[in-house]
Amino acid sequence: MQELTHWINGKHVKGTSGRFADVYNPATGEVQARVPLASREELDAAVAEAAKAQVAWGATNPQKRARVMMEAVRLINRDMDKLAEKLSSEHGKTFPDAKGDVQRGLEVIEFCIGAPHLLKGDFTDSAGPGIDMYSMRQPLGVAAGITPFNFPAMIPLWKMGPALACGNAFILKPSERDPSVPLMLAEIFQEAGLPDGVLQVVNGDKGAVDAILDNETIQAIGFVGSTPIAHYIYSRGCAAGKRVQCFGGAKNHMIIMPDADMDQAADALVGAGYGAAGERCMAISVAVPVGEGTADALIERLVPRIEKLKVGPYTAGDDVDYGPVVTKAAKENILRLVESGVEQGAKLVVDGRNFRLQGYEDGFFVGPHLFDHVTPEMDIYKQEIFGPVLSMVRAASYEEAIGLAMDHEYGNGTAIFTRDGDAARDFASRINIGMVGINVPIPVPLAYHTFGGWKKSGFGDLNQHGPDAFKFYTRTKTVTSRWPSGIKEGSAFNFKAMD
Ligand code: NAD
Repeated sequence: MQELTHWINGKHVKGTSGRFADVYNPATGEVQARVPLASREELDAAVAEAAKAQVAWGATNPQKRARVMMEAVRLINRDMDKLAEKLSSEHGKTFPDAKGDVQRGLEVIEFCIGAPHLLKGDFTDSAGPGIDMYSMRQPLGVAAGITPFNFPAMIPLWKMGPALACGNAFILKPSERDPSVPLMLAEIFQEAGLPDGVLQVVNGDKGAVDAILDNETIQAIGFVGSTPIAHYIYSRGCAAGKRVQCFGGAKNHMIIMPDADMDQAADALVGAGYGAAGERCMAISVAVPVGEGTADALIERLVPRIEKLKVGPYTAGDDVDYGPVVTKAAKENILRLVESGVEQGAKLVVDGRNFRLQGYEDGFFVGPHLFDHVTPEMDIYKQEIFGPVLSMVRAASYEEAIGLAMDHEYGNGTAIFTRDGDAARDFASRINIGMVGINVPIPVPLAYHTFGGWKKSGFGDLNQHGPDAFKFYTRTKTVTSRWPSGIKEGSAFNFKAMD
């Protein structure tokens, strides 16, 4: 059994707390490794070392820091298959999907190469007689990131890239479910030239998270995970005077207007509802067709598509549509919610409850489910299922459909499928949700835009990646400067490189 480590001061370091969590191969149900769960002392020691290392890193010019990012991009591309393979083996998602996970993180590191430009300050010449005024963005010191299991490459990269490019030291506390890829990324950043101690990967569970919250050196926390934990970390982190951004769960609605291309909408729903076994915060979990005719046309197209889905382990080839869910507990929770849907009166049109995969009976596979006639009072509508379960809520009008999405407590992503520009425009303008797709089912913004949900899907005022991340991981200092008149002599004629 492999014993995983922490990554401290540029080295793999064994855990000393004596506490471990099992890391599964979700396809077989076997434990493949155990990950140490850091104690408060281990976390505090890692932070103290990071604080020391940050001083020189923060004083390194942004262009040099950007070159580390540039080299990391090259190395991540070099190791893409290796990273994706490990990711699939611990998370369960298909190999092409695992590569997408790495790729969407990599793109944020590419964006971070622009750090010198993004960190440029403002300058006002002659703000007063002989007075100049300028603002600079300086690193915070030590920042921490706490990340979920479902994107073990992308989300750690979204956090560590901007934090490091801004000159901070960074403590990453990845999910204990799939911690190997974050450790591999730390090795890559070291090879790319990141000084030891600037990036520390401290594995752990609630104990390590509470130690992060209580550590006075840590200035900022970026969290992604479920809403109750997001709210907990936001409340405690803010109360401790830290800068905190926390992104939570989701229940993403896709509205299908009667004029939409029904085949396109059905394809989009199947990909966005069942891809990655529904374990995406941007998965579509609620389909809202407008009008009975639209609903019937969709059901007719969805059922054969869903019944054709190929569920299997990532090793079974690239035509597998989705893999197992992450743990036995996740599987049980999904099936419990499916039962509640049946009991509360929804119509289970595609029933995946008896799904078994020969040879993988102990794996955490869940067959695809489709519910029709779901209503807002049902638990399957109110709660995030985070599994391959799509719920259809029939709406009589566009107003009723948009109202459903607006009244839901989550506000991460949403989509509308229509050929009517007026409806699409109205939807984009009125909806109280952070990321909106128009005939695009999973509208994940690219690295140079920002990612973040509204309502209970996001706490804090700045989004992830893009220019917001450079604001989140720096603070502004504004200098008002007046110089007495002096001697204007002496010239230099050499053209100096900023090295
Ligand atoms: P989770 O909340 O269980 O865990 C997230 C992190 O919090 C992990 O690092 C975990 O170790 C830590 N944690 C867990 N329990 C804790 C506790 N009691 N106290 C302190 N820390 C704790 O989430 P998950 O199951 O890993 O991820 C799935 C969730 O993440 C879903 O709800 C999904 O919607 C959400 N998610 C949101 C986004 C987004 O951008 N909004 C992106 C990806 C995932």
